[in-house]
Amino acid sequence: MSFTKLGLSAPILKAIEEQGYTEPSPIQAQAIPAVLEGQDVMAAAQTGTGKTAGFTLPLLEKLSAGPLAKSNQVRALVLTPTRELAAQVAESVKNYGQHLPLKSTVVFGGVKINPQMMALRRGADVLIATPGRLLDLYNQKALKFDQLEVLILDEADRMLDMGFIHDIKKVLAILPKKRQNLLFSATFSPEIRDLAKGLVNNPVEISVTPRNATAKSVEQWLHPVDKKQKIDLLIDLIADGQWQQALVFSRTKHGANKITKQLEAAGIRASAIHGNKSQGARTRALADFKEGRIRILVATDIAARGIDIEELPHVVNFDLPDVAEDYVHRIGRTGRANATGQAISLVSADELDQLKAIERLTQKLIERRYMDDFFPTHMLPDTTLDTRPIKPKKPKKPKVNRAPAKQGNSNNKAKKPAPKADVTQGQGLRSKPLAPARRNRKPNGGAQKTSGDQ
Ligand code: AMP
Repeated sequence: MSFTKLGLSAPILKAIEEQGYTEPSPIQAQAIPAVLEGQDVMAAAQTGTGKTAGFTLPLLEKLSAGPLAKSNQVRALVLTPTRELAAQVAESVKNYGQHLPLKSTVVFGGVKINPQMMALRRGADVLIATPGRLLDLYNQKALKFDQLEVLILDEADRMLDMGFIHDIKKVLAILPKKRQNLLFSATFSPEIRDLAKGLVNNPVEISVTPRNATAKSVEQWLHPVDKKQKIDLLIDLIADGQWQQALVFSRTKHGANKITKQLEAAGIRASAIHGNKSQGARTRALADFKEGRIRILVATDIAARGIDIEELPHVVNFDLPDVAEDYVHRIGRTGRANATGQAISLVSADELDQLKAIERLTQKLIERRYMDDFFPTHMLPDTTLDTRPIKPKKPKKPKVNRAPAKQGNSNNKAKKPAPKADVTQGQGLRSKPLAPARRNRKPNGGAQKTSGDQ
C-alpha cells in the first residue's frame, strides 16, 4: 500500500516523502480515509504506531481546502496531556504541513502566556494545546472557536489519569457542537468509553498493535536488592554491561534528581526529566540524550510518557511504579525490531505490593536474579500469581490545580511478608498487545471490548 492511494494531495505527499516514509502504518491506512471522509474516529493506538501522522496528515488535507483561520480563531484543536507531547505533535504538524499555507501554534503551561497570546492573534489553522493553558487563554479572550472544524484528543487515557476530565468537559462546552471528533487512546477503558459517549458520533473504531510489535521481544527480570544499594547496583550494571544508553525510571521527581547526581558523581553522564524541570531543561535533556551527549536519561512516568525516543536496549526500573499499568508503558520503551530489549527492575522488600500488582496485571511472575555483591539483607518475600480479575478503576477525583498529577509518594512501608510459596521462574513477560488492526463502525461509543482493555 502506498500513501498515494489514500487521497492526499501533492504538497502533503511531498512532505511524507521528505520524512522518508515509504508506506503508511496500519493506523494511517485506516485513519486517513476515515478522517478525510469526515467521520468521527476512535482509535486505540500507542506511541510508536504512527498515530500522530495518522490524524495530522488527513487533518492538514482537509484544512487546506477551507478558508484560513482568522484572527484568534482556531480551525482544528489537538488536546494533549503533556507539554512534551504537545511539542512533538506541533513538530509533526509543522513537518507534514511545510508545503501548505496553514498556520499552526502550540500552547502549554509552565511558560509565559503573553507570547502565546501574541501568536494567537494571527489565528491558528491547527492549535496544539494542553487543557489548562487552553482554558486560561480562552478566559483571557485570546481564543475563539467560531471556525472550529475538528477536535482531536491525543492520549485521552493519560488525560483522564492526570485528572483533566473537568478541563476536557469545560473545553467541550465552549466548542461548536457541529464538528468532527477524533479520539486517540492507548486503551479503550470503561472511563474512555464513558468520555467517548459524550464526544464522538457513530465513530469508526480502529485498533492497532504498535509498529514492530510482533518482532519485538523484551527480556525481563528483577534484582532483589536493598534500597540503599540500588544506586551502586545501577552503576555496576551500566559499567559491567558497557551500556551505551539506558532509560532509568524513578517514581518520584526527587528520586530522579538524586539518581542523576549520583550517576554523574560516578562519571556517568546523566540527565533528569520530570515535571519540575523547566520546559527548556526538558527539551535540552531529550535532545542531549537523542544525540548521545548523555548516556542515561532518568525520567518519571509522566515526563517519559509520549516522548519520542527510539526504543532502547535497556530500561531500568530504579523503583517500581505505584500504578501497575505504568510498568507496561515503561518496558514498552525497550525491545527493537529483531533485537531483544532488557527491562530490569531493582526491587527492595518494601516494594512487594507494587510487584504483586504488576504481576497480577501482566499475569506473569517476574524472574528474580540475585547478584552476589548485592544480596539483600531485607529479603523480598516470594510472590504467587494472583489470578483474580482486576476490577475497573473508579474515576479519579479532579485535581484542584492543573499541574501534572503528582508522581507517587513514597510512603509504602514494608508489609508483612507473604506466606512462602513457590515462585515460577523465568517466564518471558509481554505487555498485552492490542487487537490486530481492524476497522469497523460502531454505534455511538459502543461498548465493544478490545484486548487492550484493562
Ligand atoms: P507516533 O506513533 O506518532 O509517535 O510515531 C512514531 C514514530 O514513527 C515517529 O518517529 C514517526 O516519525 C514515525 N513514523 C510515522 N509514520 C511512519 C511511516 N509511515 N513510516 C515510517 N515511520 C513513520
